[in-house]
Amino acid sequence: METHHLSRYPFLKAASELVRANSVSLDDLLSHPAYEESRRRGKQRVLDALNDLKVGQAPSSADDVTNLLEVLSYPVARVLVSCVADEFLVRRYALAEAKTMNERLETADFDVMIEVAEDLGVSAHLESDMLSMHFCDFLRYTSGLRGKDWKLVNHEMRKGYVLLSKKKFGRVLEQALSERIEMELPLPVTDDIIGAVSKDVAEISEIVAQLREKMRDQDFGEITITKFPPCMKKLTSMAEKGENMPHAGRFAITTFLSTLGMPVDDIVKTFFSSPDFDNSMTVYQVRHITGDGMGKRYSCPECATMRTNGICVDMDDLCRSGRIRHPLGYYRVKTMSSKRRKDEPEKEQKVEAPRPA
Ligand code: SF4
Repeated sequence: METHHLSRYPFLKAASELVRANSVSLDDLLSHPAYEESRRRGKQRVLDALNDLKVGQAPSSADDVTNLLEVLSYPVARVLVSCVADEFLVRRYALAEAKTMNERLETADFDVMIEVAEDLGVSAHLESDMLSMHFCDFLRYTSGLRGKDWKLVNHEMRKGYVLLSKKKFGRVLEQALSERIEMELPLPVTDDIIGAVSKDVAEISEIVAQLREKMRDQDFGEITITKFPPCMKKLTSMAEKGENMPHAGRFAITTFLSTLGMPVDDIVKTFFSSPDFDNSMTVYQVRHITGDGMGKRYSCPECATMRTNGICVDMDDLCRSGRIRHPLGYYRVKTMSSKRRKDEPEKEQKVEAPRPA
């Protein structure tokens, strides 16, 4: 198979076979000078995922060695993510790889899309110049996507296969790859492996910690729903009306409220009206997501993830301003502008206050 193709889609089984055929050992990959470029690109994949939610351009080369080194950057990145073993990093990296694949599929022909789909376990074929996938796969990977565009009834079906545009087909595959990577990582790593990449792991861990820090433990003051972004207003209103909320929505509103400092009991109350409300189960889930002093605390998803999950809704001018990448960022901006509004009259008063004689 063409090595350039595998360098663009290094998660394919054929890419692993290429690595095996070249007898590259993990030891060599992590320490031999011949693989320096793979290590550099592998680390860059992870940094790009953290900074830009994509993994950068693959080299456009006809040279098999260059392409093999690029293919090898994928396992390097997976090793680095596994050594850091942070749930936020795993999710972000998985999404970045999946988004990059989808972007590359936009210019790929139908054969490549079918090949990628089959590799991801999605049963697909070409149906009179349209791509189609089995309805079970469609339902599985679109369950978190909201909107009528993703409802099965709004698609033409032929013998159990759903006909999809190229764009939609790619979007479903993005979800499939993201879920697959999230499921696979972190891989078990030995002390030797951690030792071989310790410098890069320390650097990445530091960036992850800074990003996490940015998103949590911030003084948002009193929680005010008027400062909520449209997505969170919608989720709150769904909860109040007792409308059934997708899992991604429950996760998002729970992490959002927890980061704003709402206590677990109050977050649980948010779900009281839910048709399937089960107090002990809800308490357990909320405590699990928020850490509640016992363990890992999950972060509120970024806007890109909210969009991927189909729960970025009713975007307003601030959302569209280009300044907002996170629902908490939206809340922060609103908090700052309301603080400014409060401060302004005080300043005016100071100016107008009579000076002592
Ligand atoms: S852009 Fe972000 S903040 Fe605005 S509605 Fe979408 S997810 Fe929420």
